[in-house]
Amino acid sequence: MFFNSWRFYSLHRDDYNKCMKTVFADNLKALRQLNLVVAILAAGFSIFPIFIERNFSKAFIYVIVAAISLLLGLISRFKLKAAKRTDNLNSRFIYAMTILYYANVMLFGIYLGAWAITDTLAVTFMGFLIVALLLLVNPPVFNLCLTTCALVAFSASSVLLKESDIWVFDIANALIAYCMSLVFGWVMNMYRLSAVLNASRLEEERSKYYSQSTIDELTQLKNRRYFMNRIERYVTNYRDDDKWICLAIIDIDYFKRYNDYYGHPKGDEVLRAFGEALGSMQLHDGGAGGITAARIGGEEFTLLWFEQDAERINSIISSLQEKVRQLNLIHEKSDISDRVTVSIGVYVADCCDSNTVQVVYDNADKALYEAKNNGRNCAVINGDSLKQYSI
Ligand code: GH3
Ligand code: MG
Ligand code: MG
Repeated sequence: MFFNSWRFYSLHRDDYNKCMKTVFADNLKALRQLNLVVAILAAGFSIFPIFIERNFSKAFIYVIVAAISLLLGLISRFKLKAAKRTDNLNSRFIYAMTILYYANVMLFGIYLGAWAITDTLAVTFMGFLIVALLLLVNPPVFNLCLTTCALVAFSASSVLLKESDIWVFDIANALIAYCMSLVFGWVMNMYRLSAVLNASRLEEERSKYYSQSTIDELTQLKNRRYFMNRIERYVTNYRDDDKWICLAIIDIDYFKRYNDYYGHPKGDEVLRAFGEALGSMQLHDGGAGGITAARIGGEEFTLLWFEQDAERINSIISSLQEKVRQLNLIHEKSDISDRVTVSIGVYVADCCDSNTVQVVYDNADKALYEAKNNGRNCAVINGDSLKQYSI
């Protein structure tokens, strides 16, 4: 068993630690259910001494066991809820809860074993231990210690309290339950652990492929696919307190000439620098939801966000223009400046209007076209309830 425990950790230590959170949460759930079952059974058993034997001290033990189980079940439940909120689970707490569960079941089992009406009920509590080990994912040494303690306590009380021809059967039964619980517990641990691990690996793969399919490799911004999904959701799922959906399309001026003159790799460097500048715009978030920056085509980028304040639209676009100026990228072939510049078209759509994505996009594109016609290196802002203006 110790050897197995070592294997349990050494072969799976990283993986085990990685999925500890899921395992702990599962264990807490199992403890909650186990305690509930024990509470119901113990409460049920208290009926016999109360109504048939009129033995209230005996009933008292069962009621105590039921109350402890109920309490442990409630603690597990609250702890699980709190852990879900704070994303923080403590393994020591769960081991302590497991030990308390075992102690409580032993109190129940020993009492049942010693004074139950029929002797076959004596091994009931060993059954609980098996069930517990099947439901809990614990290191084997921990389980070995718990079951050994249970076996010793049960056997000792049986020897002390029962006739010799009965305790022999009790010990034989307990030994069988002990071996079964260790073997099944070990096998179940392995299955459960590998199931959790596989699930976490699948989740990792899924998120890897998701980010690969939604991120533009060159700029590391979101790509066109992500942007289209996002704007679709924005247009249909705004909140009541959102006034506008803002879409800015940003296009680098005379970029073909830049590529032709400096070469494609230099052009890529410019795109990467733009990616960083626009990516930092996502942090420019004073309001709800933040700004989504994406590269939707060759040298075309977008910013998409919800807005409640017209002033903030100006400040966001101005800060974007400032960031482009700070990039300070030389462009000798531009007609309008000796640095790389951008033209920006912004469309501000009223949230409550039933705009389609196509309408919002086309209008932002029109604004961009205006900006290009106005001589480039400027932004044209237009909207459902805004008069067109240029900055
Ligand atoms: P305008 O001011 O009117 O926007 O002129 P422009 O030259 O920027 O516009 P045009 O659409 O004619 O050119 C876009 C250029 O962007 C063409 C292509 O060389 C360049 N481009 C597109 N994708 C990439 C890319 O991934 N890397 C590089 N280096 N260049 C790209
Ligand atoms: Mg273009
Ligand atoms: Mg261009």
